[in-house]
Amino acid sequence: MLTQLLPPRIDASKMTIIPHKISLIIFGLLLLSVVACSPLVVLDAGHEPSHPGALATCGKQEMDYNDAVVTILAGALGDYRVLLTRPAQAEVAADVKGLSAYLSQEAQLKWPHRKTLFARAALANKNKADVFISIHHDSTAGLWQINNPALCGGKGGKNLAAAFKQKYQVGFNIFINDNKVEPCRSLSLEIAQLIAKRLIAIGRVAADHHLDDCKSCHSIDSRLGIWHQDLAVLREAAMPAILIEVGNIVDPDDEAIISASEFRQQFAQIIRAALAEYFAASHPRRQTTEHAYSACVFL
Ligand SMILES: [Zn+2]
Repeated sequence: MLTQLLPPRIDASKMTIIPHKISLIIFGLLLLSVVACSPLVVLDAGHEPSHPGALATCGKQEMDYNDAVVTILAGALGDYRVLLTRPAQAEVAADVKGLSAYLSQEAQLKWPHRKTLFARAALANKNKADVFISIHHDSTAGLWQINNPALCGGKGGKNLAAAFKQKYQVGFNIFINDNKVEPCRSLSLEIAQLIAKRLIAIGRVAADHHLDDCKSCHSIDSRLGIWHQDLAVLREAAMPAILIEVGNIVDPDDEAIISASEFRQQFAQIIRAALAEYFAASHPRRQTTEHAYSACVFL
């Protein structure tokens, strides 16, 4: 019968509700897919309360500088999924069961003695991060540090010897693992270059004192301040990895620049812009977490 072929009656009152619900579901699914596919950036605040790093001009610990930058940077990278290797003012949670399995055999042997160092890379590997960024602040060998009673509001502090500043440039450095067998070498260098160019453009200076005080370092690009050093976190990270020395905290001039909140915001935006350019590059293996993780293996 003809009447049986007609579509069932539709309740007009529900017509406005159903499309709205469907659009919400579609929007939710799209949002989930965007979030799921957005790259995972691991931010590693160097050092920790048990090993707080170098002391600055007025005695402040390097860890505090690293934590301040990472906190701002994490907020600026809202386009990405962000994983911190440790919360601010806290130790790295190295006692995650099975975590050492995400390291090389050599690192697994050293694991019991250097857990909180290796755990940083292991956490990135376990979570299949796309990029690993370690944040540090540089210091200088003790022989170049001079006590100055006029510093730090008259309480006294340390500054760099005049001879040091005549001999070397004071500023930032970016380290990568430039080992010939490092599969992520070229991508790590690309990220370092994208960041360094932007830092130079805002007037930051590439430091060069590691020419003389770091035997295991070599310069990759002196103009951009990019160096190799065989650092555990860079060697063990299974994805493009860089370590940034934001500036020199024993030089009162540089310390004043890099500890200003305006600079830290600017620094965070530089990292954000550099990562945006990196991930926008045409290589399809960078576009999703799953593919990007294996990018270094295939390139
Ligand atoms: Zn450090």
